[in-house]
Parts: sequence; structure tokens; C-alpha cells
Amino acid sequence: KSKKSAKSATKEIKRAGVLGAGIMGGGIAYQSAVKGVPVVMKDIKQDALDLGLNEAAKILGKGVERGKVKPAKVAETLNNIVPTLHNNELENVDIIVEAVVENPKVKGAVLAEIEGVVAKDAIITSNTSTISIDRLAENLKDPSRFCGMHFFNPVHKMPLVEVIRGKHTSDETVAAVVAYALKMGKTPIVVNDCPGFLVNRVLFPYFAGFSKLLDDGVNFPQIDKVMEKQFGWPMGPAYLSDVVGIDTSDHATHVMAEGFPSRMPRDENGAIAQLAAAERYGQKNGKGFYEYS
Ligand code: NAD
Repeated sequence: KSKKSAKSATKEIKRAGVLGAGIMGGGIAYQSAVKGVPVVMKDIKQDALDLGLNEAAKILGKGVERGKVKPAKVAETLNNIVPTLHNNELENVDIIVEAVVENPKVKGAVLAEIEGVVAKDAIITSNTSTISIDRLAENLKDPSRFCGMHFFNPVHKMPLVEVIRGKHTSDETVAAVVAYALKMGKTPIVVNDCPGFLVNRVLFPYFAGFSKLLDDGVNFPQIDKVMEKQFGWPMGPAYLSDVVGIDTSDHATHVMAEGFPSRMPRDENGAIAQLAAAERYGQKNGKGFYEYS
């Protein structure tokens, strides 16, 4: 009698689906497309789909200018991104990367809905920055096919992808997501689940320190200048918040405060909360800590 191998082959991702065409969804779709894995990019707004595609075209344009991208690659990559407003176009994907707003309720509803659309063996992942994977998994009938796939901004430049294993995530799911991240030219690390995972558990106390300095009256351009010019980081905390999105940062502080109430409490009167209330969302709407034209 021949025994079935204990190790089944890793599921190959040949076609992906991205939910949300914002800063991250657009970037993830581009990165998948440029590495030859076609992707269906879904949003609820046509404007967001247009922006996502424009962003991909811009990155490719710059690549051509610098001689890093062959002109023929431009059309090939753009053809690999299929924008849509409809879930039914996601029926045949091997993996979903959910990248909608950082709100547990919205994500929960979106994940539950998509599980009913994709094939039984499709993998479902979330690009959440902070929300526990086990918490999101409660919305799924089959949490074994679910894990975190956390990219960093800007996706085409940042090498790291955190692959977050929930308590129900299967080994096959982790293996397939790691393989897909590698195919995308990224460096995956597998981490355990908790709010903020690894990177944001390090970053949020840094942002809390920045917020305290502002309370003490230090001005933000000064802080950015010190962190960038003298300390040598690519950008300081105020500019980074504008790049990430003030709304996204604000949502994330709620999640982190819920997870770590004593270590990372939310500052209701802090700069991020105030900017969010004033609808200064950062680069995405032209004004945050700084103004952009
Ligand atoms: P964003 O605001 O730029 O984009 C969110 C998009 O989701 C919007 O285009 C919106 O129309 C769309 N959307 C909302 N509801 C939807 C639905 N039901 N179906 C499909 N699309 C829907 O936000 P972002 O910065 O791209 O963040 C997306 C996710 O990625 C969040 O979970 C965030 O925490 C995470 N993340 C963000 C960053 C960052 O630096 N911005 C980094 C890593 C992870």
C-alpha cells in the first residue's frame, strides 16, 4: 500500500484578489502584477480604483525613466490589474488580500462576505496593521485558511511582510502565503498573533513618545528634522503619519489601546485625534501635519 505523503504541495498562487484600492490595496495590486501574478482589485468607489491604477502607472513610469523597467513591462503589468466594483469577479482567485479601512466591524463584514464568494480552498488574508487575526477570524466559517499578510508602505519599496499566524491558521495556509510573498519579491517573516504584531508594537510607543513631546511644546517640523537629518531615519514621525494616513493611524490607536490599555493608552486630545477630527487625513487629502499641493 502506498502511503500518502504527509507533506502536501504548497498551494501556488496564480491569481489574486485585493479588497480595497487605497494606499495599500493599490500598492499590493501593483506589486503582485509586476511580479507576474494577475490581480483583481476591488473597491466600493470608482475613484479609488482609478487612483490605484494611476499610482501603478506612475511607479512604472518612474521605473522606465530610470531605466529600471522595460517599456514593454508597463502594459504587461497594467494588464495584470483588473479593477472592479463587483465581488463576483473574485470567484476564481487563489488568495484574497483584504486592505479596506482599519475598522474591525467593516473588516469583519467584508471578510464574511468574501468567504461566501471565493472557492472553498482559496486563502483569505488581511493586511490589517493592528487588529488581532484571531479576532478577525471569528467572522469566518473556516479560519484555517485565514492569516495576516501585513505589507508596509510604500509596498513597492518596503521589503518586509509580516505573515501572522492565528490559532486556527493551518500550516498549508502559512506556507502558501509565505511562498506568495517571496514571489512578490518580499521578505516574509512569520509572527504570532496579538494586536500590532511585531512592527507596530515597536512603532506605537515611538508615536506615543512623539505625541508627548508635542504636548511638551516641541514643534513637529523640529522633531522630524532631528529624526531625519541628524538621526538618519528616512522620515520623521509627523511626515510618516501623513504618509500612512491620519485616519488610519487614528483607527489603529483605538485598536492598540484596547489591546494594551496601560502600555499604549489612547490620547483623546493628542495630535492624531485632533487632526483626524479636523479631517486632515495626510497626503491622501492634501493636508495633515503638513500641507501638500
Ligand atoms: P485607504 O483609506 O487608503 O484605503 C482604504 C480603501 O478601502 C478605500 O479606497 C475604500 O474605498 C476601500 N473600502 C472601504 N470599504 C470597502 C469595502 N467594503 N470593499 C472594498 N473596498 C472598501 O487605507 P490604506 O492606508 O490603504 O489601509 C488599508 C488597510 O491597510 C488598513 O487595514 C490599514 O491599517 C492597513 N495598512 C496601512 C498602512 C499605511 O501605511 N497606510 C500600512 C500597512 C497596513
